[in-house]
Amino acid sequence: MSAGIEIANATKSFGDRPVLRGVDLTIEAGTVTVILGPSGSGKSTLLRAINHLEPLDEGYVVVGDELIGVRVHHGRLKELSEREILRQRARIGFVFQNFNLFPHLTILENVSEAPIALGTPPATAREQARALLERVGLSEKASAYPRQLSGGQQQRVAIARALALEPEVLLFDEPTSALDPELVGDVLGVIRSLAGNGVTLVVVTHEIGFAREVADQVVFLDEGVIVEQGRPSDVLDNPREARTREFLSRVL
Ligand code: ADP
Ligand code: MG
Repeated sequence: MSAGIEIANATKSFGDRPVLRGVDLTIEAGTVTVILGPSGSGKSTLLRAINHLEPLDEGYVVVGDELIGVRVHHGRLKELSEREILRQRARIGFVFQNFNLFPHLTILENVSEAPIALGTPPATAREQARALLERVGLSEKASAYPRQLSGGQQQRVAIARALALEPEVLLFDEPTSALDPELVGDVLGVIRSLAGNGVTLVVVTHEIGFAREVADQVVFLDEGVIVEQGRPSDVLDNPREARTREFLSRVL
């Protein structure tokens, strides 16, 4: 299953500090979008808005055909119940910079816990979890605890855990920036292996090589606005905007 994302006029301030200033972005179902931008440009806030973690002041997000956030609908604000938000969030996986595994659960339990809580029979959930651990190359770690794994292995477990809910959209917020350099490649390899399999991927990362090889669309965000977006060969190799060029010269 797969869902596209439409973001329209996403606007958000923290206090009097504008963080998103009218972001419009369309993401086709099943594609890979890489979001680049300096620290503080609003990348995490934008991802969090897609997942209902950050209410917008103005604008809206639609995932598939379902509304997220605030929208004036026939002149009225449509508000979602907490139950509705939880239901929608189950369609969207989120992988964080710092893995956020449950330290007191084994790797297998980390991956199978949410499906069991949502009603999958435990034996089925464990079987699916084993298959996912194999997919991320960690079958042999099923009964280990997170602290016994490297950061790169923990992040691959976090990806398996997100996949266990069969999300239509998977959001990654700097998934490799907490890792030692030699562990980055395996995690990017797992993300790359998900591309083209239906799930819509949105990846905030500074890994330009990954963006060039895997992204269908690259978005450069600065000070809460999209400065430039397009195919990787355009944005990364022939940027039109001085701000994009300046940013790329610092991260490349
Ligand atoms: P990025 O991910 O691009 O580094 P963020 O979206 O995390 O940027 O943050 C953008 C700006 O919003 C930063 O200046 C940050 O300090 C601020 N910010 C983020 N979250 C909060 C919050 N919950 N309260 C106040 N300020 C915040
Ligand atoms: Mg961030």
